[in-house]
Order: sequence, then structure tokens, then C-alpha cells
Amino acid sequence: MKKDNDLLKLHSGRRRFLTLASLGAALGVSGACTRVPETGRGYAPVRASADRVIRTVSGLRPYRPSGFVVRSERIGNKTVVHNYGHGGAGVTLSWGTAWLAADEAVATGASSFAVLGAGAVGLATARLLQRRGLEVVIYARELPPDTTSNVAGALWFPTSVYEPGRVSPEFMGQFTEACQISHRMFQSLVGERYGIRWIENHYLYKTLRETEYPGGPNLYPGKRLTQNPNIFFGSPYTQQFFTMMIDPTIYLDAMLGDFFRAGGEVKVTEFSDLEAVMALSETVIVNCTGLGARDLFNDGELIPVKGQLTMLLPQPEVDYTYVVPEPNNLLYMFPRANEIVLGGTSEPNNWSLDVDPEQVGRMLEGHSSIATTLR
Ligand SMILES: Cc1cc2nc3c(=O)[nH]c(=O)nc-3n(C[C@H](O)[C@H](O)[C@H](O)COP(=O)(O)OP(=O)(O)OC[C@H]3O[C@@H](n4cnc5c(N)ncnc54)[C@H](O)[C@@H]3O)c2cc1C
Repeated sequence: MKKDNDLLKLHSGRRRFLTLASLGAALGVSGACTRVPETGRGYAPVRASADRVIRTVSGLRPYRPSGFVVRSERIGNKTVVHNYGHGGAGVTLSWGTAWLAADEAVATGASSFAVLGAGAVGLATARLLQRRGLEVVIYARELPPDTTSNVAGALWFPTSVYEPGRVSPEFMGQFTEACQISHRMFQSLVGERYGIRWIENHYLYKTLRETEYPGGPNLYPGKRLTQNPNIFFGSPYTQQFFTMMIDPTIYLDAMLGDFFRAGGEVKVTEFSDLEAVMALSETVIVNCTGLGARDLFNDGELIPVKGQLTMLLPQPEVDYTYVVPEPNNLLYMFPRANEIVLGGTSEPNNWSLDVDPEQVGRMLEGHSSIATTLR
């Protein structure tokens, strides 16, 4: 695929916008939902009660206040291409930073590569190298379904990736490019095989604020801001747009399958230190170890941000998502074919994977309260 041509096509979004707008209209019919005259569609309430909980999971987002790292480094007789530290958007950004990292790796002229890590970032990187006709071995301690990427929500939205004011112009250039490429790549995978679908999303705000479209406004088809508390969950301000929702279990499994089908090899390995990495036979190593990069490559800026999700029994009639981005009461809901995902929590520097029952209670209460606004 020629990147520039594709991105040009991506920017000519008028026809795509019309298609998605008609999709929105088509989604308007929904059985036992509230009728919302202004929007022409209803929103089925999520049944967020304790007796519908399937399980609660937690994971550690690999976060760096100055943003992810994609760059090459010479260590001994090897080239290490880093691709880690994606915070709360590693699935979202995976194809984009993988593209940037693959460019760096290919520039070495090597024909075989070691990719460390089998989360969303490592798998996308390995696939892009394979698609360029190159040999790849993945080395990883955990494979899907046991990676942090499997715990992700995973809505396509590049948020919680960096701290504003801590990033360089160079990073912001990489960030925008990664968002654009990744969005385009995920579009080509929409469908049941990869567990990816378009969905109508709502950001619910209590106060009017400047709307943000990270990575570029063209990535948010159907976008609009509504100031009417009588629609959209009773929220005074609602930012709406269509985005993609990825079911990580289906997606990562399909990606691993693609990797094997293309002749890739996986070695389940835990690297205890840099010396163990340097002992690999490959001379070009792409580091996609997520939070593991902190110890392996001595990056003290990389910290965990703990997140917890509670899954409910599925509700096929729920065909929208929402996010309440309140720092002290973050809430989001993503419907999947097999479950409803309730988030969210965000605890910097918390290394524990234990489930916090208080947060489960807060989520159930917060989401049922949103559901009542639909009645
Ligand atoms: C609750 C929650 C919700 C989230 N929601 C979203 C969302 O909606 N959208 C989104 O885009 N992102 C979301 N994220 C963030 C996303 O999950 C991460 O950014 C992403 O998983 C990072 O991917 P990765 O491939 O870099 O890391 P990982 O998935 O952690 O993969 C790292 C790989 O490296 C391997 N590894 C690490 N150290 C070593 C070692 N020493 N030796 C050998 N192998 C090693 C691991 O075994 C693994 O295979 C969420 C995260 C959480 C926790």
C-alpha cells in the first residue's frame, strides 16, 4: 500500500461522511427505546445491575507523560527500534506507530527481524514487516488472550496518550501521522472477522468546552456538538461522532492467526534484562514490550495507569457508546456482541491488578443513573 496515496484518499472524506450519515439515520429504529424526536432515533438503556455482571478485569496502561516512543537506537551490534508507551490508546494507535517503526526497521536493510511483544502494537508491527515481504519472529512472555491489549475497551479514540505541555512538536507530528495511518488501516479491517464495527459515540459534558478531535477532525465522521439537555442522556453538552469499536479478543486472535498464516514464528520467552535481548540472533529488534520496556530498556518515565472494566450480560439492542470524561468520575460504556463493557478507572502508578469492589459499585451506580435519563 502506498501511504501517501491512501492518506490523500482518506482526506477526501465527503462521500464517506454522507455514507455514515445515512448509516446513522438507518440506526434510528430501535424497539423498546426512548423516542428522541430531535435525533430521530432512540437509545436502549443499559441494564447496569449487579445481577448482570459477568466479570471484572483490570490492566495497566503503559503511560509516558511525554508520549509514546518510536525511534531507533544502536545498542552494541544491534539496532533496536522502539515502539512502546501508548498509554490509554495502544490499540487505537497500533497500526500507525507500527508503520513508523516498520519504516525505521526496513531502513536498516535487514531482511529478518525480532519483534518483542505480542500485544496490539507488536502484532501490527510484525504484520506490517511481513506485508513488506520480510521474515519476523515474535518473542513474548504473554500471547493473546493474556496481554494488556486484551483488557482494552477498545474504542478507536487516541486519548490519554500524553500530558499536554510535556510533548515536543516532533512527537505531535508522529502522533498525528500515527492517528491518520491507524484510522485508515482499521477501516480496512471492519467486519466480523476482526471484531471491528462503526458505532455512534457520545461524549457527555456538564460544561461547554472546546471540542477536541485528536489526530485531525477528518477522523471523526458525523461529528456535531449539541447543547440540549433534553436529548442524549440528559447531558447539557454532547459531542457526537462515529468511530470504530474493536473487540480485542476477536481482533488479536485474528491478528495472531494472520501472522502464522504468513509464515511467522512465535517464541514464548521472558527477557529478564537487556543482556538477554542482546543475545538474540536477529540484528534488528523492534521493542513492543509495552510497560515491560520500563525495566528492559531503563525508561523511568514509563508508568502504569491502572484501569478496571466490568462486563455485563450482552444487550444486542444497545447500539451506541458514551463517555463521561470527568477526571474524578470517569464513565464509559461500549457494547460488544458478547457483553457490555462498563468503565472506567484511571489510577496512575498503581501496579496492582486486584479488582477494586468499590470501583465496581461506582460503575454500576454511575451507569444505571445514566440509563435512567433515557426513560
Ligand atoms: C482498562 C483499560 C481500557 C483500555 N481502553 C482502551 C481503549 O478503549 N482504546 C485503546 O486504544 N486502548 C485502550 N487501552 C490501552 C491499551 O490496552 C494499551 O495501550 C495497549 O494494550 C498497549 O499495547 P502494547 O502492545 O504496547 O502492550 P501489551 O498489550 O502489554 O503487550 C506487551 C507485550 O510485550 C510482552 N512483554 C513485556 N515485557 C516482556 C519481557 N520482559 N519479556 C518478554 N515479553 C515481554 C508482553 O508479554 C506482551 O506480549 C486500555 C487499557 C486498559 C487497561
